Amino acid sequence: MQRTALDQSPEITWQGLPCWRVLDTQFAQGQGFFDCWQAWRADPLRSRLLHYVAFTTAPPATLALSGLLGSQPALASLVQELASQWHALRPGFHRFVLNQGQVMLTLCIGDTLNLLRQQQFAADAVRWRAPEAEAASLWIVKALARCCRRGTRLTVDAPNAQAQSDVTRHLMQCGFDLQTPEAATFDTAPARLVASFNPRWTLKKTRQTTLASALPVGSCAVVGAGLAGASVAAALARRGWQVTVLDRAEAPAAGASGLPVGLVVPHVSADDCALSQLSRSGVRLMLQQARSLLLAGQDWAPSGVLERDLDSGHLHPQDLWHPQGAWIKPAQLVRAWLSQAGITFMGQTEVSQLRRRDGLWELLDEHGQRLCRAERVVLANACGAETLLQRLRRDEPGRAVDLARLPAMHGMRGMLSWALHDGKDPGEFPPYPVNGSGSMVPRIPVAGGAAWFMGSSYQAEDQPERPDHDNHLANWQHLRSLQPALADALQHKFESGEVKHWKNTRCVTTDRLPAVGPLEASEQPGLWICAGLGSRGLSFSVLCAELLAARWGAEPWPVEASLAKALNALRH
Ligand SMILES: Cc1cc2nc3c(=O)[nH]c(=O)nc-3n(C[C@H](O)[C@H](O)[C@H](O)COP(=O)(O)OP(=O)(O)OC[C@H]3O[C@@H](n4cnc5c(N)ncnc54)[C@H](O)[C@@H]3O)c2cc1C
Repeated sequence: MQRTALDQSPEITWQGLPCWRVLDTQFAQGQGFFDCWQAWRADPLRSRLLHYVAFTTAPPATLALSGLLGSQPALASLVQELASQWHALRPGFHRFVLNQGQVMLTLCIGDTLNLLRQQQFAADAVRWRAPEAEAASLWIVKALARCCRRGTRLTVDAPNAQAQSDVTRHLMQCGFDLQTPEAATFDTAPARLVASFNPRWTLKKTRQTTLASALPVGSCAVVGAGLAGASVAAALARRGWQVTVLDRAEAPAAGASGLPVGLVVPHVSADDCALSQLSRSGVRLMLQQARSLLLAGQDWAPSGVLERDLDSGHLHPQDLWHPQGAWIKPAQLVRAWLSQAGITFMGQTEVSQLRRRDGLWELLDEHGQRLCRAERVVLANACGAETLLQRLRRDEPGRAVDLARLPAMHGMRGMLSWALHDGKDPGEFPPYPVNGSGSMVPRIPVAGGAAWFMGSSYQAEDQPERPDHDNHLANWQHLRSLQPALADALQHKFESGEVKHWKNTRCVTTDRLPAVGPLEASEQPGLWICAGLGSRGLSFSVLCAELLAARWGAEPWPVEASLAKALNALRH
């Protein structure tokens, strides 16, 4: 069957919209996606963002460049852009950010019905390519209808005459108007039906847990200029928001995100728990940002990371190689995000109080002087968020911020030990970072040469601070479990005080998962949080920011709804 770009013409209506959302139940070799992306690029009046959510039971191992390009060489650069990120595709959702962040492909791997039930958005256009077994399923049509808004255009390829009649009946029952005039009388197979979602009943507001419609794009204040705040600011600015980022420090990344170097590596667990799945999604998103914004070899490197499983009780530690593991200098990324158009940074600006006045949020300093006004506020100031929320509850008891539903957050001190590699350095340093009991990250370019970093100690902030010497010792002991020969070779350096340190405090939640989402139970909540990134800010910051921005824009979510629930701020 001959197809046009997404079968949308003549009804392409993305012109001038903030976002256009397509749901395609069959990615196959990606032709439908590439056609759509190309048509979108060619349209000067295209929407600001294009979201394409595509399903597959088994993604192609590699994108078949030759097959796709034979007839359309113009697709080459698009296919190559996606192909460079095409790896580690297990069942579940995978988000690819393309075209300078304006095109987002969410590849969902699994069974159609399950994947439909994990969506949290209403599509503008749906393409359902129904295999025989599915075409007879009323459940699939019901699940598809749940992903439609009034007016969503649906095209269906029904494989045979029986399927056409089943599909027609189910579509009409679920609120679709058939637009193909001869729809009910097809006698050749396969055939295409075109329908539009237009139920005769009122749609329930609660049919999705997401915001029913996008928040109008406007102004936003973000408190905190670390990984959390800067990634939220960048995600919102890309969608057209005017964002002011306020931090009490003079420069960005003055808190935990000032970490000289950190590892981006997925969490691994025998049962592949939510933390593991979420961290995998987060790592993919973070690496895309690093690749597009940072200088490889200087600010980050896709070095791979060796993980030593020291807790499994095996006599010999089991090693796991993460080919996608990387090291990143977080402060570089924070600065790159904050330099994007639409973002204003205000340093030396401590926010002490929030209040609502004349339909806007106001952020005040300790003297009650107004620092900034905005339609929405995101608290991305780590453990400092709780202080602001407690003050708000005291000042405005009527405001529905139920702090008991937020996971408790507490500070965890951490210290890295580090030194320059010098001429006398032993040859025992591994060629890549090693993670497990703490982490050893060698050969990082710094002022004056290359350095190694060994971290990190872990101590609750409410205990008296341990002396630096004891933290160095703790780091050295971790190194001894990770790399015994290297620990022996560096023992003298640790003992003689030649090793330097960097320390700060992580903000950790009780369940070790970040808290992201609205803090008010309102249809258009104005107060949001993105905090509690714990020891995994590099793995979680982009995922949290994309999730928050997706909720504001009524866009497809980067992960399954059931997984995203684990990150919800008011999760208790
Ligand atoms: C020793 C150590 C090693 C680590 N190693 C890794 C690693 O290898 N990989 C990894 O992924 N993560 C690692 N982390 C964790 C990572 O650094 C954090 O998860 C991440 O930086 C948290 O980012 P954030 O933006 O939430 O917090 P922060 O970076 O702490 O930012 C919060 C900001 O809010 C500002 N602020 C607070 N209150 C106010 C207020 N009232 N008004 C205005 N501004 C305010 C602060 O000045 C600060 O800049 C490590 C952390 C430490 C301490």
